[in-house]
Order: sequence, then structure tokens, then C-alpha cells
Amino acid sequence: MTTALREASVRDVSVFGDAIAYFNEAADLLELDAGMRRILTHPTRQIIFSIPFQRDSGEFEVYTGYRVQYNFARGPAKGGIRYHPGVTLDEVTALAFWMTWKCAVVDLPFGGGKGGVTCDPATLSANELERITRRYAAELVEVVGPDKDVPAPDVNTTPQVMAWFMDTYSMHVRQNTPGVVTGKPLDIGGSRGRVEATGRGVTICALDEMAVMGLRPETATIVIQGFGNVGRYAAKLFEERGCKIVGISDVTGAYYNEEGIYVSGAMEHTAKFRTLEGFKGGEKITNSELLSSQCDVLVPAALEKVFTPESAAKVQAKLVVEGANGPTTPEADRIFRERGINVIPDIMANAGGVTVSYFEWAQDRMGYFWKEAEVNEKLEDFLLSNLHAIRDIADSRHATLRTAAYTLAIDRVVKASKLRGIYA
Ligand code: NAD
Repeated sequence: MTTALREASVRDVSVFGDAIAYFNEAADLLELDAGMRRILTHPTRQIIFSIPFQRDSGEFEVYTGYRVQYNFARGPAKGGIRYHPGVTLDEVTALAFWMTWKCAVVDLPFGGGKGGVTCDPATLSANELERITRRYAAELVEVVGPDKDVPAPDVNTTPQVMAWFMDTYSMHVRQNTPGVVTGKPLDIGGSRGRVEATGRGVTICALDEMAVMGLRPETATIVIQGFGNVGRYAAKLFEERGCKIVGISDVTGAYYNEEGIYVSGAMEHTAKFRTLEGFKGGEKITNSELLSSQCDVLVPAALEKVFTPESAAKVQAKLVVEGANGPTTPEADRIFRERGINVIPDIMANAGGVTVSYFEWAQDRMGYFWKEAEVNEKLEDFLLSNLHAIRDIADSRHATLRTAAYTLAIDRVVKASKLRGIYA
């Protein structure tokens, strides 16, 4: 069993169930009626299909693919595609549910969706990945599109995967359609700033909240779990703003250095060796030591359910910034609350990616592309204006930032649903 498969087998409690617990807390605050709660806690559409493909060896295999289109009230479904051994219908549904609130919280004209394939990309060649991706896209041709559902990258899916998806869709509809996916390479309709956008958003939200908490970047220490698309760029941008990164990790291990980890060195290491295995820029520690290490800001940027009651009780950080989706179970969240640890919730903290995805979609439709500075400026504006709105709700309702974020998002989705009415 690979490490990734072992990891998947322990994440066996319903992720969607946890997600609904957060929804209910905000729905109570909004005094949402039972009918609307019922509608919003059911996915609009769940699609499951087989992906037969040929290994380079000639052997045939069959994987399972999913796409969940959770809600369309505010626009086309929007959300990434995950390739991971732990992908299940439950997980994809939870992720699509979160996308609904994430798009609403930053006021994007999108609903929520998510997709995935249960597979271990570490065991697949580039050709095998391409065949799987093209078959996955072909199965979804009728239900995705710039005005229907717009996928994007997530765990283990890259700009190249998006390029194959876009090409397959375009071949089927006989029309170049860059706006069918976001997170594409720049040469085929991607947006400047998209690759770093989620990490940049994590940093923008964190620095704004740190200022409110009186934590100065020049003296702040940061720990980041996960060194992929989100964690890596968050680390780099924190470092650029003068913060000291004292801990990083990936699936192969964690590294701590109280003098500060040289992030570019870690990035060069992963560019060369794919993972942090063998990284010499810090002392090797365990994942649980990383999560409980001394720091001001802790950024989970790997997978969900990282903070359980046990791990949350040991966290020493003052601020947790959820780069990953769903890293905190509701029980752990209660512990953070009791211990006075502030949390910027996932639907706000990692919304930078989908915000620049929205810019990419808009640019593709216009056929006119912005400079990176313009993208970054607009990103900061979208994130901070909504983070400030959340903070105002949290202050006035004596709620956590998480409940405030859900409250803002649910209110926006409910307004759209009521204006459109329920077609029956
Ligand atoms: P990625 O595949 O690029 O990177 C994931 C990282 O987490 C890798 O470094 C991997 O080694 C590490 N990891 C996996 N299991 C781990 C473990 N047990 N301990 C420590 N590290 C571990 O994925 P990503 O795109 O960076 O996504 C990370 C998280 O952020 C996911 O929850 C994803 O849903 C969320 N997210 C991603 C985006 C995006 O734009 N990519 C946007 C919003 C949210």
C-alpha cells in the first residue's frame, strides 16, 4: 500500500457531514427556514462514471470518475478536479458544497462544483495521465462548458491536465473553447497570476488578519503543511513580505528550522526531485510535531481533516489560515474557539485561486488578457473587501470568522435562489 493509499483509508468519516455542520451553524444565525436548508444541503447533480484506459504496458484498467454540480443559483458550477487515491463521492460532494460558499463569499458569478478521479498519479506516466484526463473530459462533454460548469486544477491536477481537458472538449464541440476550464497554461488562454493565486490569496488574507491581531510580518513565524501549488507559493509570498517560514512539509516529511527556511531552496529541491524528501534546509520532524510546533501562523495546505480534537489541542499558533479545503473538523474547530485560536476559514482563505479562475474565464470570453499587476490588484480588492465584510459580521454577531463567512455566503445564495424561484 502506498503512503497516499494508507492516508486515504484513514480519512473514512463523512467529509460532507462535517461540511454540513458548519453550514447549520450559520443557517441558525440567519434563521434560515427549513425548506431552504433542505434545498441547500442537497447537491443538484452527481455524476459517476467509469474511466477505462490502457496502461503503457498494454494492460487495461478502469478507474472511477466523479463530477458533482452542487448549486447553480449564482451561475455556472465552478470547482477543481482532484486526482487522488482518497477521492470518493462523499469527498467530491463536500468539496462541491464548499465551492458553492467559496464562490459566493467572494461574490463571483458562479455556483459550486467539483470533480475527481480515484487514482494515484504517482504511479501513472504522463501518457497514462493524458489518456485518463481525455476520457474524463469526454464523459462530461454534455454537462460542462463556459455557461454550464467550469472545472479547474486541484490536488495533483496541473495546467497541463487542464490543457488536455480543454483540447478534448474543444475537439468534441468543434470549437476552440478556452473558457471551459481555468488554470490553463498562458499560451492557450490561461491568466497571468493564476498559478500563484491561491497561495497569494492565503498570504493576503493572513497579513490583513495579522495586522488586526497586532502580529508584525517582520517578527512573525509561519509554518506551512503541504508544499504543492498552494503551500509553496504561500511560503514564497510570506517570505517576500518579510515573514520567517520556520516549518514546511509534504507527503514525504516535515522540516523545521527556527532560523528560517530558505523557500527558494525548497522550491528548487522540489523542482528537481518532485518532493521534499532529502531536503537539507531544516531538521526533519514528524507531521504531528510540525502541527504543534512553535509559530505565530499555521497554514494547513495539504488535505482535509488535519485538525482533529487531538491535534487542535496541541496547536501553538495564534492564527490558523486554511489554505487547504476542510482541514479542520467541527470538533477541532470548537477547540480552536475555546483556546482563542483565530481561524481564517478555507472558503475565504483559499478563495484566491477561484477568484483568478474567474478572471481567467472573463478574459477568455473577452479574448483580451490583462497584465499580471492588474490581476493581482483586482485579486487583492476582491479578497480584502469580502474579508472585511466577514470581519464586520463576526464583530457584530459575536461569531467566528468561519460562521461569519458562511453567513455572508449563504445569504447571497439564498437571495439568488429566491429571486430565481424554485422551478418545479
Ligand atoms: P498539490 O497536489 O499541488 O499539493 C498538495 C501538497 O500536500 C503536496 O506537497 C503533498 O505532498 C502534500 N501532502 C499531501 N498529504 C500530506 C500529508 N499527509 N502531510 C503533509 N503534506 C501532505 O495540491 P494543492 O493544489 O496545493 O492543494 C492543496 C489543498 O488546497 C487542497 O485541500 C486543495 O483542495 C486546496 N485548494 C487548492 C487550490 C488550488 O488552486 N490549487 C485552490 C483552493 C484550495
